[in-house]
Amino acid sequence: MLKNDQLDQWDREAFFHPSTHLAQHARGESPNRVVKTGSGVFIEDRDGTRLLDAFAGLYCVNVGYGRTEIAEAIADQARELAYYHAYVGHGTEASITLAHMILERAPAGMSKVYFGLGGSDANETNVKLIWYYNNILGRPEKKKIISRWRGYHGSGLVTGSLTGLELFHKKFDLPLAQVIHTEAPYYFRRPDAEMSEEAFSAHCAAELEALIEREGSDTIAAFIGEPILGTGGIVPPPAGYWEAIQKVLDKHDILLVADEVVTGFGRLGTMFGSDHYGIRPDLITIAKGLTSAYAPLSGSIVGEKMWKVLEQGTDENGPIGHGWTYSAHPIGAAAGVANLKLIDELNLVNNAGDVGAYLNKSMSEALADHPNVGEVRGDGMLCAVELVKDKGSRTFFDAADKIGPQVVGKMLEQDKVISRAMPQGDILGFAPPLCLSREEADTVVSATDRAVRTIL
Ligand code: PLP
Repeated sequence: MLKNDQLDQWDREAFFHPSTHLAQHARGESPNRVVKTGSGVFIEDRDGTRLLDAFAGLYCVNVGYGRTEIAEAIADQARELAYYHAYVGHGTEASITLAHMILERAPAGMSKVYFGLGGSDANETNVKLIWYYNNILGRPEKKKIISRWRGYHGSGLVTGSLTGLELFHKKFDLPLAQVIHTEAPYYFRRPDAEMSEEAFSAHCAAELEALIEREGSDTIAAFIGEPILGTGGIVPPPAGYWEAIQKVLDKHDILLVADEVVTGFGRLGTMFGSDHYGIRPDLITIAKGLTSAYAPLSGSIVGEKMWKVLEQGTDENGPIGHGWTYSAHPIGAAAGVANLKLIDELNLVNNAGDVGAYLNKSMSEALADHPNVGEVRGDGMLCAVELVKDKGSRTFFDAADKIGPQVVGKMLEQDKVISRAMPQGDILGFAPPLCLSREEADTVVSATDRAVRTIL
């Protein structure tokens, strides 16, 4: 085994970490935890420190760590056939079975599954399919995509543009011109404190419609949104939001993409977030929970309406010019099949609803009275604590004070609990594995309570 010093040196010399302050890391000023193993909701680093991972990696290890059933399915697949491509009609038992299992679980009206590797490339696929669709329908001008400020849809060129967070645009010359943003359904930061949730939803829908009319509805192809905003602050939609948005989209013949990379496969206590909030999407993006991150795999679930046009397009133009070498990779597919079986066997969707509600209620009871806790919010196994300088006026702390990261750091130091400081604002995020128990939820809440009261 390598010595720690050697590994640390190679880490600084060779490893370009994603979403990392590169200069600080190279100077040894940011954490370089080397993670070694995991079991249930816990990970363990190379020094033997055990941490409760209340963010499930990057809200993806939904079944928890150390599931040998999935590891064995991966090993069996690798031994039998590590790879064959899926071009021109090829497949494996695993990839075909997984597509079938996804459609069995998907909301009504879904027709086919295209497989990719991660959430970003799946959303990239969605945009290409949307453009192709409108070209086949003879509407070459109808191409712009609307997403929300604070939405997160990936960090590629198109998907980083869809993402509505400044950090992902700054110095990258994004967003691209084909992407425009509308208001986030962020009720805590509504323009008028007296507004009801329903009135705020109507306001968001009116803003969307005004944007569509300004741009011209014949230029707008699609709207993309996460059922509940994730990386942008874990913000559940206010009452009536999706209904109001869908009315506007239907009126202007605009497709709806539900980005369920976080919410797909149980996180909200239903198999899909679309079912949870009554969303009727034309396309659904899936990744993370599809394999619980045991292997990289994503998907675009294509609805009936689009599928018919895609078929027509290939009759007119030949095979669809879109494919990755690793589309439907057999090892990812085998992991997906084993993962979805495990979610059913362990009843994890119900557990996410049950323990998630308990986590949200306990967090709220513990912290809601604190003068710097503006709001505790969430749904299912997603929870956020938004910290503010002044509760009455909901004012932000000075960004330079890094209050959110300080609390997250304290929680880790004092109680060995991992949470996430969400970008933009001092928001503590929690998205534990769906197998979290009530006792483990208690640990997360007490660690948060202690850390907030230590820093503030
Ligand atoms: N969509 C959503 C809603 C996400 O939360 C993420 C990642 O966090 C993505 C897309 C991008 O997925 P990936 O990081 O696998 O490219």
